[in-house]
Amino acid sequence: MKAKIAVLAGDGVGREIVPEAVKVLKVIAEKFGHSFEFASGDIGGQAIDKLGVPLPNDTLALAKQSDAVLLGAVGGPRWEGLEYSLRPERALLGIREALGLYANLRPAKLYSTLVDASTLKREVVEGIDILVIRELTGGIYFGKPKGIEKLPNGDERGVNTEVYTTEEVRRIAKVAFEAARKRRKKVTSVDKANVLESSELWRKVVIDVHASYPDVELSHIYVDNAAMQLVRNPRQFDVLLCNNMFGDILSDEAAMLTGSIGMLPSASIGAKVGLFEPIHGSAPDIAGKNIANPIATIASAAMMLSYAFQLEKEADTIEQAIVKTLDLGHRTKDIQSPGAKILGTVEMGEAIVRNLS
Ligand code: NAD
Repeated sequence: MKAKIAVLAGDGVGREIVPEAVKVLKVIAEKFGHSFEFASGDIGGQAIDKLGVPLPNDTLALAKQSDAVLLGAVGGPRWEGLEYSLRPERALLGIREALGLYANLRPAKLYSTLVDASTLKREVVEGIDILVIRELTGGIYFGKPKGIEKLPNGDERGVNTEVYTTEEVRRIAKVAFEAARKRRKKVTSVDKANVLESSELWRKVVIDVHASYPDVELSHIYVDNAAMQLVRNPRQFDVLLCNNMFGDILSDEAAMLTGSIGMLPSASIGAKVGLFEPIHGSAPDIAGKNIANPIATIASAAMMLSYAFQLEKEADTIEQAIVKTLDLGHRTKDIQSPGAKILGTVEMGEAIVRNLS
């Protein structure tokens, strides 16, 4: 197949880890007879330095014309004094909005060789492989009315509105059921339907959509119980379907189960162009030292192959190469263990390329 991929490395370690993922994609293209065209764009702090804005129009145009976007990370202390609307992180909100990315997919998978990196006991986390699906453009973060108003007695009143429409729930539920079909075919929908009307609608629509996916098992869980079960018995979950706020919180909790932030990829998908990025930031404390872990970004490239291009065999080849590289004892500094070989960012990328068999 032919695909055009926008490459937005951004700031800090983004500039080191993204080239490693591109290297892997190039080898995959060659191996499987695909043609991937890569085009780079400016985003975040480096775009501010070069062009005065965090998300230049050319970058947006490039993203929209591409079949998928590979993003590194944005931000850093250098730009922290800027006014909020000019900060590098604004570029993330801008590009998500412009591409209509309504679904955020975050797998939390614990590689067996890294079990001891988790803060939880081995017997609790061994073998976890959860996909958190978070609705990204609706709910309480966007609902109106919102704001802080003055009351006649001089106090203030802060308001946010949790709101979902049938269609918003329907499209995210479909993403969850489709994703489950590629996995262990279990969706757990998170809500608070015992208290919130918006959750009552959420549950009703999810049940409705499920009728078209009889091969997938559906269950429902209240969000407070979900938070508890994630640390009590996380292996019970396959796909966790969440609204915007519940997904925001639970995806971080699920990510922590696996130990290192440098391992976790993500995908944001919408009507057309998907965006694939590691969940971590620009890690200014380690940037420029060739010690950042590129695995989250390489695994994000694998998600791109699966979710944007339906290239399952190719995505699996990358996954297997990561597992093999870790099994061989190769580690970056953030996941080091006694006796392991510590590799730099570039060397870890090269080791994964070597294991793409
Ligand atoms: P961070 O994720 O950049 O770093 C947190 C910790 O994890 C640091 O100690 C860092 O060294 C480590 N870390 C992160 N990625 C790593 C990797 N690949 N390999 C090894 N270690 C890694 O979060 P932060 O320090 O809170 O934020 C730094 C900057 O990144 C801020 O400007 C923040 O706004 C921005 N940020 C951007 C994104 C994004 O681009 N999507 C996400 C989060 C934060």
